[in-house]
Amino acid sequence: MNKIVVKFGGSSLASAQQIRKAVDIIRANPDRRYVVASAPGKRSGDDIKVTDLLYSCCELAQNKEDFLPVLQKIHDRFSDIVKELGVDFDVENEIAVIRAHLEAKADSDYMASRGEYLNSKIIAAYLGFPFVDAADYVTFYADGTFNAQETNRKLSAALADKDYAVVPGFYGALPDGAIRTFSRGGSDLTGSIVALAVGASLYENWTDVSGMLAADPRIVDAPHTIEYITYKELRELSYMGATVLHEDAVFPVRTAGIPINIRNTNAPEDAGTMIVPTMPDDIKKHVVTGVAGKKGFSSIQIEKSMMNAQSGFLSKVMDIIAANGVPFEHCPTGIDTISVIVSTEAFRARRDSILREIHERLHPDMVVLENGLAMIAVVGQGMVSYKGVAARIFGAIAEADINIRMIDQGSSELNIIIGVEEADYEKAIRSIYKAVENLM
Ligand code: ASP
Repeated sequence: MNKIVVKFGGSSLASAQQIRKAVDIIRANPDRRYVVASAPGKRSGDDIKVTDLLYSCCELAQNKEDFLPVLQKIHDRFSDIVKELGVDFDVENEIAVIRAHLEAKADSDYMASRGEYLNSKIIAAYLGFPFVDAADYVTFYADGTFNAQETNRKLSAALADKDYAVVPGFYGALPDGAIRTFSRGGSDLTGSIVALAVGASLYENWTDVSGMLAADPRIVDAPHTIEYITYKELRELSYMGATVLHEDAVFPVRTAGIPINIRNTNAPEDAGTMIVPTMPDDIKKHVVTGVAGKKGFSSIQIEKSMMNAQSGFLSKVMDIIAANGVPFEHCPTGIDTISVIVSTEAFRARRDSILREIHERLHPDMVVLENGLAMIAVVGQGMVSYKGVAARIFGAIAEADINIRMIDQGSSELNIIIGVEEADYEKAIRSIYKAVENLM
């Protein structure tokens, strides 16, 4: 028996009409057995997600303000869905439970989770699948961090005797039974957790785009869709700002090597993007997979003559930065210089204490700070065995008259990272994309 886990995002389940599309997709393949549902998202550009309504309702209740008009909106979203689908589901009663909870104790995790909870119950009733509440199986430690092992043990046991189920995304429970949510977009993570628990052959993540694009479409005109990408490449691109999945969603399926397929509920005929452990042999290999980047970096450049002869200099620098709670992003080194690239936002609050400690502990000849840097990553597993990618990239940047401020190539050659001035960012992305487009 093949098992496919299907997760539908908020826009795929925003209305009865969207839920019908999702249900058609589920019914089109009998292997699509386990459904993970998000709360209803936006029906149009200016609409409000049910999760956001729930958060505002909770905030009003916490401030002892009138939350009833917002609760009414939430009620209406669900009652419209129930009416239009024609399912037998008591929305009034469910909303009364939520209202009682708000009046007794407005707990924001509990409130936020009700969007997934109600939507999944309605979809389960419509499909005729059992509803399996994530609160009983998705487990968090008392400190609020996710307990992967316990969750997998409980969830695989619970789903072992069920051929079909609908599981709400986004939340689980603490050891005392209180609801705890993942960070926003966390239903992607629930999908991955369920895929691991049932030993799925595939995790389909249905959203409103036909896969992951090879560059940001706001910068590059009509970038192409990535057909295949490895988990590792995805990680590199997501880290640099290309978002298609919640950033933690890969971890559970990664351990079992389950591929993730990003698909479009509004265009189910599109193949989407396959996220795989390793590239299959029978596909056309590409050299470059995608280009992504981010603005908002600063560099701390430290100079000291004979630095290379001094043991432990680099580790002392890293120590100072880490002890101040600032994560470092990149660290290109010279003979007597090192530069540490950090996020400007994270660095700002600790700037003075980091600089003071660098001066006191390392006695540098010079420290130069620079803000306004952007980082661009060119990612592709194929780059390691292909000559001339770097030449193309740097040639294109030079031709566009852009000054490169930093270069960092990971030893695995999975990526080449280039730092440029923020003002040159968009132009640099466009030139790089053009230069490597036929290697994609
Ligand atoms: N409904 C939650 C959110 O809006 C979780 C999700 O959709 O994945 O963030």
